[in-house]
Amino acid sequence: MLKNRRSSLKVFFEDHSLDAVLFTDLRNIRYLCGFSGTEGALLVSPDNAWFLCDSRYTMQAAEEVQAAEVMECAAIRLDTVAALAQEYDLHRIGFEAAHTTVSAYKRMSEKLIGIELVELGAILDEIRICKDRTEIDQLTSVASLSSQALEAVLVNIKPGVREVDFALALEIEMRRRGADGKAFDFIVASGERGAMPHGRASDKIIQSGEMITIDFGALKDGYHSDETVTVACGEPGIRAREIHGVVRAAHDLAINAVVPGISCRDLDEVARSYIRDKGYGDYFGHGLGHGVGLEIHEMPTLSPRSTAVLKEGMVVTIEPGIYISGFGGVRIEDTVVVTNGGCRILTGVDKKLLIL
Ligand code: ZN
Ligand code: ZN
Repeated sequence: MLKNRRSSLKVFFEDHSLDAVLFTDLRNIRYLCGFSGTEGALLVSPDNAWFLCDSRYTMQAAEEVQAAEVMECAAIRLDTVAALAQEYDLHRIGFEAAHTTVSAYKRMSEKLIGIELVELGAILDEIRICKDRTEIDQLTSVASLSSQALEAVLVNIKPGVREVDFALALEIEMRRRGADGKAFDFIVASGERGAMPHGRASDKIIQSGEMITIDFGALKDGYHSDETVTVACGEPGIRAREIHGVVRAAHDLAINAVVPGISCRDLDEVARSYIRDKGYGDYFGHGLGHGVGLEIHEMPTLSPRSTAVLKEGMVVTIEPGIYISGFGGVRIEDTVVVTNGGCRILTGVDKKLLIL
């Protein structure tokens, strides 16, 4: 499997006339060789791969790394890269510019004498954009764990509870169910705070009659989940109900429109035009969604400016929202995998208005 992922790099070696690529972004390293630790580098040539780490990670690498030779670097890692370059005739080596600091680049230039260093863009983003079967299984599993955790703690939503206490209960429940951690700092935004699309859980106390936007996700085996529900604590007002209905209908329309071949801009417009027609066009300020995988936000972006087209295997969120300053807001989000004829929803909480 991991060997297959690496074979998709072949085109980059050819396009850039590269002899090898030195990967330092840990997510890309995990994607290509399976290593889940927090320090290491992966040198890949068309025929070979070497994972370089120090002694703290040798045992972990021996267990996790697949289809690459694990090399423990006793002293300076770049000396090992230089030695490998000499032994295997690697003259042009690409590096991940976005994950290389200026000082790291200087060190590379000093240590890798005689080697042409080629600055590369986010070369794996285009490959990682479509998930393989193993990844879809992992994303399915983490999404379902996360949804079940939320359902288990929703009873905690009641007047008098602080947003942060609810967020903590949710995180503990996720860990109890096997998550490695939370995918991001949860958004728990009640009442007027709901107007902040990214209102992280605060000390605010939830009051009766308020809407609460809960944007949450778990992290497991490197993969993230992302889902949002907006629930009511007691009977909500007429306006809040109406806004929830508009957002939910926009969300459903967009999910029904997901199909390989649709442009991400057109998909965004499906939800956006509906919200506009209902008179709330000025209150939906962000894009419709984003890719999810080893990062919580990755390609493609679903927005009016997006140039991407959906393909089978992409995993994206659909998350329209309406945010009204001084009033509050509603967002509804599901993560879906694009399938042959449409999509499959990975996240599992029912999106009808839940009154707690
Ligand atoms: Zn989210
Ligand atoms: Zn999201």
